[in-house]
Amino acid sequence: MPEQRTEADRPARTTSAAGAYEALRARIVSGGLKPGDRIREVELAQEMGLSRTPVREAIKRLEQDGLIRHAPHKGAVVRALDPQSMNELYLVREVLEGTAAGLAAQHASTAEITALEELLATQPPEGQDDGGAEAARRNAIFHDAIGHAAHNRHLLHAMDGLSGAMALLGPTTLSMPGRIPVAMEEHAAILHAISARDAGAADAAARAHIRAAHRARLHLLYGIGG
Ligand SMILES: [Zn+2]
Repeated sequence: MPEQRTEADRPARTTSAAGAYEALRARIVSGGLKPGDRIREVELAQEMGLSRTPVREAIKRLEQDGLIRHAPHKGAVVRALDPQSMNELYLVREVLEGTAAGLAAQHASTAEITALEELLATQPPEGQDDGGAEAARRNAIFHDAIGHAAHNRHLLHAMDGLSGAMALLGPTTLSMPGRIPVAMEEHAAILHAISARDAGAADAAARAHIRAAHRARLHLLYGIGG
């Protein structure tokens, strides 16, 4: 019966649109598609083995997320963060990461602290030829673990809300020569304060870490700061 076929088609369509959205978003987050790059609907559909409709839906959703915009004569392009939104982003990150570390100092379980220690101990050495990608991946896991150890769902939700804008920051600051060992020292300071159950020190250390990442970002983008 035609009705049944229609019903059966609907979940499949939804799934391919969701899959196209995740795949396209992952490309932007990983830097495979960079700010200013054109989003070519036909090419993407071919690459993903999908029809154009789910790809178009994915592009629409990413536009709503603020990751893609329409540029005159170019069509859909990956959005670039302007300096003002970048400053706003780092300011909010500083507050959220500081709060997360402070709460983790109060609420992290012994197992969570042990897991953080293991994450810190397994940071990759500098000089891997991947533009800091592996270090950035592990950095995200470390910060995510602190977020979870804070045991506050609203805070986690707020941190998640920044991930779209974070994806537009461009290449990781961990790609900068000398940044990995310094960032690892900053991570160690955060974890030390969490282990010592010193909420104030954990908050301050996490804030200092994000401010340092912000300075590194400004240096990477504009050659200013340190
Ligand atoms: Zn970090």
